[in-house]
Amino acid sequence: MRQAVRGTAVAALAAAANAATLAEVCTVANVQAALPANGTLNGINLIPSSVTANAVNDANSTTSSTAYNYCNVTASYVHPGKSQEVVVWYTFPSPDTFKNRFYVAGGGGYSLNSDPTGGLAYGAVAGVTDAGYDAINGVALDTVALAGNGSINWDNIYMFGYQALGEMTQIGKAITPAFYGSNSSSKLYTYYEGCSDGGREGWSQIQRFADEYDGAITGAPAFRYGQQQVNHLFANVAEQTLGYYPPPCELEKIVNITIATCDPLDGRTDGVISRSDLCKLNFNLNSTIGTPYYCAATTSTSLGFGFGSKAKRQSSTSEPAQNGTISAQGVALVERLWEGMINSKGERVYVPWPTGSSFQDTATTYNSTTGAWDLSITSLGGEFVTKFIQLIDVSNLSSLENVTYDTLQDWMNDAMVRYMDSLQTTLPDLTPFQSKGGKIIHYHGEADDSIPTASSIHYYDSVRNIMYPTQSYNESITSLQSWYKLFLVSGAAHCSRNTLMPGPYPEDNMATMIDWVENSIEPTGLNGTVTSGTYSGEVQQLCAWPLRPFWSDNSTMNCQYDQKSIDSWTYTFDAFKVPIY
Ligand code: CA
Repeated sequence: MRQAVRGTAVAALAAAANAATLAEVCTVANVQAALPANGTLNGINLIPSSVTANAVNDANSTTSSTAYNYCNVTASYVHPGKSQEVVVWYTFPSPDTFKNRFYVAGGGGYSLNSDPTGGLAYGAVAGVTDAGYDAINGVALDTVALAGNGSINWDNIYMFGYQALGEMTQIGKAITPAFYGSNSSSKLYTYYEGCSDGGREGWSQIQRFADEYDGAITGAPAFRYGQQQVNHLFANVAEQTLGYYPPPCELEKIVNITIATCDPLDGRTDGVISRSDLCKLNFNLNSTIGTPYYCAATTSTSLGFGFGSKAKRQSSTSEPAQNGTISAQGVALVERLWEGMINSKGERVYVPWPTGSSFQDTATTYNSTTGAWDLSITSLGGEFVTKFIQLIDVSNLSSLENVTYDTLQDWMNDAMVRYMDSLQTTLPDLTPFQSKGGKIIHYHGEADDSIPTASSIHYYDSVRNIMYPTQSYNESITSLQSWYKLFLVSGAAHCSRNTLMPGPYPEDNMATMIDWVENSIEPTGLNGTVTSGTYSGEVQQLCAWPLRPFWSDNSTMNCQYDQKSIDSWTYTFDAFKVPIY
């Protein structure tokens, strides 16, 4: 029955072609008629009576600087045999601004995106999902991952992991042609964009819903989830193992000296380490011992990036004035962090953070009674261990007693195995996406202090090895770059510019991606704009990995091949007995 109704609606609107107005298409009846009939999308049963449709005429408003006219649409669906309703929410641009595009944005931390308006700037329909657990209203996965102690809510894990976004996209793409009354055979270009967990979510879509997307932009992805989340405890365990809890000011001073010393190694003194590999290979950390530091007393907010709602609440700390000199112990701690996690057998467990990055996970707490700095267990790692590994509904570990690098390795292994097909998100064979013409822009800040930059390089290399096993290195790079490019962002922090280094940051990636997908204009570099410091306003072309930037003078940057650099970014995780992609 619905098919017949739908056909009539399409015919009526098609007759009007592009002349349809927002008011004409933005009706409950039009959306209901456009819904895919149950059985069309296997596993998704839409509920027509749940549909809402409301036109928003922001373009007539004088208060909004960037205003659009669009249609807000919500609908609910169930998975056959299950009762939990899932809400999806779309914004459809006014017909006169629709450009045959569909856009999906990622979230961050344990939260999915809840803003459906991100596509309007591109003439794209966009959508968000509540994942069945009210994610649209801000409910984060860490609060619903457990049904109770010892009991994982797998529906929520899988929905967050990849399923909810994929289904939202499938439904939205099915509705769109009928909604506009356009020819359903015309191409609906579909894009994904996100950073941090949003980057991981993008990879989940490329790996699991390859048919749905034409282009994906993934920044600093929080993939290799089991390792990545536990790795947040590496700094705390390093402090405990060394028996040294540094005053924050001491590490800040080491970071500042590192930046000042390594800045020129890339050929240009601009306050930015564009080559953290040259810094790693050449900087003598011991030379900083004895350098005085001073920081005034502060009341500050946490450096945490809100990976988990609990982390956001532990925000305000008071610190006394810190006055001292860089110690051998402080240097030993930084050396350990730059080396990355190694177990008691001398095997590598995980990648290190890049030289020049800050050390957010090292944060210590001032004990006003003893006057000493004490261990402060980062909830970024602690909460993941309690809720996702120990399956206890508390928001952090209460102590790290008897926790060693070997313990962290065991936790990583437990999490990797448990969430291998939901959150790990490192499937390396992307043939379905590649063979249908999909394009990927993957970027990562080279001073990321939350997700190590080398994590992205490791995955890029895994895809290269798995997909082009018989090609030489150079041949396989050429093959891979024709559809998947990785860019390191000089000096950038985690999914953002870095207050310590005035480097470039890519902010018009969608324009580059649209050109690549719709106009076959393949990017060689990626636009990175500098917005502070001596070179504010400059647009740099970030180098596609494995090429590395080097300035031949203060104004000319070349992308060069440097085997030593590539080798310094290459790691084998021999602590694990199965391949780690
Ligand atoms: Ca520099």
